[in-house]
Amino acid sequence: MHEPGISSRELMAENETLRARMAYLLEQAERNHEIMCRHQAFDLQIVGASSFPDLVGTIFSTLPVISDLDIVTLSLIDQNADIYTVMHRLGVDFETLPNLMFCEHAVELGFDMAPERQPRPTLGPYAPGRHRAMFPQPPADLRSVALVPLLRNKRLIGSLNLGSVDASRFTPALGTDFVEHMGSIIAICLENVISNEMLKYIGLTDSLTGAYNRRYMDRRLAEEIARARRQGYRLSCMYIDIDHFKRVNDTVGHQGGDDVLREVCTRIKAELRMSDTLCRFGGEEFVVLLIDADLENASIVANRIRTSVAGLPVDLSTGEQVAVTVSIGVAALTDFERDHAIEGVAQELIASADAALYQAKAAGRNQVVTAA
Ligand code: GH3
Ligand code: MG
Ligand code: MG
Repeated sequence: MHEPGISSRELMAENETLRARMAYLLEQAERNHEIMCRHQAFDLQIVGASSFPDLVGTIFSTLPVISDLDIVTLSLIDQNADIYTVMHRLGVDFETLPNLMFCEHAVELGFDMAPERQPRPTLGPYAPGRHRAMFPQPPADLRSVALVPLLRNKRLIGSLNLGSVDASRFTPALGTDFVEHMGSIIAICLENVISNEMLKYIGLTDSLTGAYNRRYMDRRLAEEIARARRQGYRLSCMYIDIDHFKRVNDTVGHQGGDDVLREVCTRIKAELRMSDTLCRFGGEEFVVLLIDADLENASIVANRIRTSVAGLPVDLSTGEQVAVTVSIGVAALTDFERDHAIEGVAQELIASADAALYQAKAAGRNQVVTAA
């Protein structure tokens, strides 16, 4: 039955149009579904990231692909450079993360920071002058950007910066639900992974001097012995003990003693290479692990440390000064036997440096003794 006035040709045409429209919508729905699936997979991947480099690495490598972006960068607010310092000390190589930036203050991110309002995403054309800080290495034809505030408990922790060579990709008229959702998940993951890394760091360092602690040294020593066996490089160890430290505490007080510990630690560190590991092993005792150094190299470094400590009195926070010296025992790894248990070999290395230290004390202190 035809309605009067509508020819079958018209109906067929309308049918065609509807079919085409339906096919288009289906295709759109499928595409949207596919995008959603990719984003869900991404969400799961970042929620599961176990470390800071793992998380930011995933954001930089995966997000541009699944969201079809030409650049993704991240700016983190890091007052006092705490995050940077901890990550650096945990071994994060920032050279491999050129799109990760740190800034000191929230205002540097350029969001509207009016007191009663939450910062909102800014979408629009790329303006080199205004956006240079967010995109230090922009692709040549960057045209539109989205700067997404990363918020945790209403606090701005950073900004996720998305860029496209397509000028119509981010426009002020576009809805921001999607990028806001992405920003909120990334903010949670960042906060979580950063606080985990901070805890890891606290568990491995000594809060008074900032040197590593004994737990870290035990782990590191086992790793280095394994590597020295595989690659056949030399490994040496220094056991450093401040002379008559009880007397130092007695004369300048515990606080003064703490100042001495910090300063001795700084002077030791100044004589070491990046690859060496310094830990506070106990009260006024430090252990240094020297990678690729034999007994002779290590004793040269030990003598530099001894001279540097004895050379200048330590300035205390009270304005007083106190002269201190250290005694140092040096030993080198000699047991490269692969079937010897690593723990035993590690203990022997430390014990042999400790025995040399004992001799340095017996010989009158302010001395370096190398193990026979
Ligand atoms: P020696 O030359 O034989 O090493 O003498 P010493 O007095 O240094 O030896 P000893 O190991 O008996 O004394 C270490 C002192 O270090 C005892 C302790 O009160 C002090 N000490 C340990 N930890 C700390 C600390 O964190 N701060 C301060 N100020 N003193 C500490
Ligand atoms: Mg001691
Ligand atoms: Mg001592």
